Amino acid sequence: MKIETKCVWAGVSKNEKTGSISMPIYQTATFKHPGLTESTGYDYSRTGNPTREAVEKSIAELESGTRGLAFSSGMAAISAFIHLFKSGDHIIVSNDLYGGTYRLLEQIYASLGLKVTYVNTSDLAQMEKAVKGITKGILIESPSNPMMKIADISLIADFARRHGLLLAVDNTFMTPYWQQPLSLGADIVIHSASKYLGGHNDLVAGLIAVKDPGLGEKLGFIQNSIGSILGPQDSWLLLRGLKTLAVRLEQSQKNAFELVHWLKKHPQVKSVYYPGLKEHPGYQIMTKNCTGFGAMISFEVAQPALIGTVLNRLKLISFAESLGGVESLITFPCQQTHADIPKEIRDELGITDCLLRLSVGIEHVGDLINDLDQALTIEEDN
Ligand SMILES: *Cc1c(COP(=O)(O)O)cnc(C)c1O
Repeated sequence: MKIETKCVWAGVSKNEKTGSISMPIYQTATFKHPGLTESTGYDYSRTGNPTREAVEKSIAELESGTRGLAFSSGMAAISAFIHLFKSGDHIIVSNDLYGGTYRLLEQIYASLGLKVTYVNTSDLAQMEKAVKGITKGILIESPSNPMMKIADISLIADFARRHGLLLAVDNTFMTPYWQQPLSLGADIVIHSASKYLGGHNDLVAGLIAVKDPGLGEKLGFIQNSIGSILGPQDSWLLLRGLKTLAVRLEQSQKNAFELVHWLKKHPQVKSVYYPGLKEHPGYQIMTKNCTGFGAMISFEVAQPALIGTVLNRLKLISFAESLGGVESLITFPCQQTHADIPKEIRDELGITDCLLRLSVGIEHVGDLINDLDQALTIEEDN
């Protein structure tokens, strides 16, 4: 079955007695046991709930894995992954990554003894240098956030296998529609489903999918023990979002390409970062590992003074954190998503005070261009 079809049929339970097409919301904390030592398969909703299970099955199928797990947020999913390691273990992480992941590692798990080295994962030599005896895993994002650097997941999967390391990929920006890390050799794929998978800026959720059933068991144990599960109402909302993933992504990407070409020609725009551009250093890797380029664009305006003006003047595109919804959103990474990353590191990565990150939605592209145009047009002083 093709992925478009899998998306549409996410959570449709064909053997329900009622024949309901939409998965029911099992709003229950607990389940009655038929008798002593007997179970319906469900005991308590932290351990398992049919609505959440429908989401978990869907993400496993979409990512070509054997087991899926749904969490209360993307950060909860990343935390569950971190709990596979113990105090004194070392992991290698992309240096250009979601700011919240950096904060979690530095301000929560560092004090519990987890050691982390941040590297440019587009450069295998840097990764090779970072490996130590205590290294146990790798966590990468590709494209990276917000600089859109591309890591070659299949190359890194070979590297991970050679060193006996667990490879996790945060696939939030691409979704299984454009990129399937498990098929490229990764062990674990992680999502903030608050973004494209949910797709409507109305939900906070996290997902994990794995290929190896043993690893799935371990993560299931962590999920049940820590308890950061996705509730039945939000599970239903996520199933609803998943159904239109393919059409939303196609439209967003089409809009993104048009906007990128328009931004490149704009006199107030200094640089545009989008991996679908042929001149982008990761373009070849994207065409090899992915079926699309996504709809996230970062660009620099000509001078820092313009940032406030542009953000104030935009009428349609909202100045708001998050991404991946049907509505176009713009963020200023150095003061928002990446504020917890020290300035020296931000400067080194290119997260400057001129950089804006645009999540392109599914509006008519002409309206998006008009909005950006009026916001970027500077009246001459007189
Ligand atoms: C938003 C995001 C997260 C965190 O997810 P939440 O659902 O907000 O907890 C993690 N990784 C990436 C790439 C993200 O964009």
